[in-house]
Amino acid sequence: MPDDRPTTAAQDSAGSLARAGDGAALARALFDSLRRLSFDGVGITRASYDAGEGAAHEFIAAEARKAGFAVARDRAANLVIELPGSEPGRPVVATGSHLDSVPQGGNFDGAAGVVAGFVALSRIKAAGITPRRTIRLYGIRGEESAWFGKAYLGSSALFGRLDPLDLERRHRDTGKPLATYMEAAGADIVAIASGEPLARAEDFAAFVEVHIEQGPVLVDRALPVGIVTGIRGYVRHLKIVCHGEAGHSGAIPRWLRHDSVLAVADVLMRLDEHWRVLMERGIDLVITSGIFTTDPSRHAMSRIPGEVEFSLEFRSLSLDTLETFHRLVQTECDVVAKTRGVRFEFDRRVFAVPERIGERWIEHLDALAKRLEIPTCRMPSGPGHDAAIFLGAGVPSAMIFIRNAHGSHNPREAMAIEDFMRGVDLLQAALLDPAA
Ligand SMILES: [Zn+2]
Repeated sequence: MPDDRPTTAAQDSAGSLARAGDGAALARALFDSLRRLSFDGVGITRASYDAGEGAAHEFIAAEARKAGFAVARDRAANLVIELPGSEPGRPVVATGSHLDSVPQGGNFDGAAGVVAGFVALSRIKAAGITPRRTIRLYGIRGEESAWFGKAYLGSSALFGRLDPLDLERRHRDTGKPLATYMEAAGADIVAIASGEPLARAEDFAAFVEVHIEQGPVLVDRALPVGIVTGIRGYVRHLKIVCHGEAGHSGAIPRWLRHDSVLAVADVLMRLDEHWRVLMERGIDLVITSGIFTTDPSRHAMSRIPGEVEFSLEFRSLSLDTLETFHRLVQTECDVVAKTRGVRFEFDRRVFAVPERIGERWIEHLDALAKRLEIPTCRMPSGPGHDAAIFLGAGVPSAMIFIRNAHGSHNPREAMAIEDFMRGVDLLQAALLDPAA
């Protein structure tokens, strides 16, 4: 359900709403202000380590100060807001998400996780509760790959995992290197380039990220909130070429053809059938061939296609499934190559390992949701998130998805504040009572 109702809460009253602990009104006010700050005429643009993201950081930081929180920036220029615990020496319980967006994106992707943390912290403070552990809210920099061709810049830098070569990556519009942008935002480039961890896994008891669901599952199941079981890894071939033989469409009979389009279609239908069977066995997998093209400079209606280029991406929560399926792809290509007289040429695969969320955290969120009477389901995350970087660094992490229509990375993202608040309820319970 879209939630575009204008709010009566003016921008400068967010601080008093925070102090009053009125969660839904505070959430509306913050989302409205962020939308106004980032509207580009079509959608929302908050460029990574650049003006748009910077403005969102400034705004949230100012609101946090007004609400009486400790506000700082870490050495990767991530925003850090804290509610001190009664035992400050203990590892912190962290939450948050990213504040950047793709060009002409939506208002909730990323920002929902920061606003959720802000609302949870405000309500805890307004209720006069001092948590045992310090609760830390991150506004993470540079999560979207749209600007510098790489995702998770701020969270990778946090754990000393940003490749120095990545600092040379060029901004999509200006061509200037990432290092220049990070430095201008206040990041410690020397430390980041040397791979120095700016935080250690031991500093964290947990990281819990709230994010809108970017697929249709929660809408389809009529559930407000999902508990994420893991973040899918993937195998990607950007370019596989199938070489057949071009020829006149009228002159060559079927048994003498080496039609590359039919060969690739044959491979994809075989893979689709494997996918169906694997799914019936409960195995997590998604397959996509998003690019599939004959050469426009040579193709013609009456020419048997001699060559096809296509991409192949498959994602899974299981490393075994990814490796097994990759072998299956090669086997099926070999079979089709033999039977149809074509040849497949693969580029180097790009690979990302899946990150599983610990069963302890999943069961804990299940139990908290049950206690709060929030209907949920367990679900994998197809897209990647900063939580994957925290998991990879060894921080026990969890994710809460909020129902959202029309996907993400577009201005039509639609999340109801009622659903959002159910997610905040669950987050708040998890922050005060993290999994043991
Ligand atoms: Zn996101």
